[in-house]
Amino acid sequence: MKKIIIGNWKMNLGLKASLKLAMEYKKNLKGTNSVVVAGPSEFALADVVNILKGSGVLLAAQNVFWQNEGAYTGEVSVKTLEEIGCRYVLIGHSERRQYLGESCRIVNQKIKAVLILTQKISPVLCVGESLSTKQAGKSKIFVSGQLQRALVNVKSFEAARLVIAYEPIWAIGTGKTATEKDVLEMHGHIRVWLSKRFGVVAGKIPILYGGSVKATVAIELLATPDVDGLLVGGASLLASEMKKIANIK
Ligand code: PEP
Repeated sequence: MKKIIIGNWKMNLGLKASLKLAMEYKKNLKGTNSVVVAGPSEFALADVVNILKGSGVLLAAQNVFWQNEGAYTGEVSVKTLEEIGCRYVLIGHSERRQYLGESCRIVNQKIKAVLILTQKISPVLCVGESLSTKQAGKSKIFVSGQLQRALVNVKSFEAARLVIAYEPIWAIGTGKTATEKDVLEMHGHIRVWLSKRFGVVAGKIPILYGGSVKATVAIELLATPDVDGLLVGGASLLASEMKKIANIK
């Protein structure tokens, strides 16, 4: 299975800079060894998808609402993301949980909405513990709890379209990548949790790692069992860095 490399551009770029980066992705990321996904902010999605046409680079949104239409000021629907051509959507990113109060219940509603309202978009459920939780030795219990609450009422046949991203909060944007041992243990733990919950379908659910990934650390990470890809933040703003990561065999 090809590794999935998602670039999360966050709110780092304005419109012009987003379009410029999309052009660089198109030039540099055609025909790599991985499934490459660009994640611009919402306002740039429609233009970026047009630029990326023919490059094989797919599109991810950074957010979605759980109702398909209606009076929900400022939100974006599954239907709109589908019309634009998004193939993935990040759900439950720690920055949204922290700054926008996104609760596990909201995360669950969003996951369910994407799984029910479209066949074309995979929800990328982000989970991960804080530094204090890690130091207390409670990382696995914490992540299991997040998975359990985020996936309430998700059926096994629906779960086949899920992607999980393990993103320890202490590694996001800090320059501290999780060690190979941390990643091996947590990804193995997530896989076992998914198997107990969804049976054989668990084997089809890609588990990505995210947190200060650069090309230099990506080789080891991608060689770790149960690492099916990477969610890349800061380094995804450089197409050259994404190219190196996406070409790792
Ligand atoms: C992220 O926030 O999804 C992320 C992985 O960020 P960074 O690579 O910058 O740590």
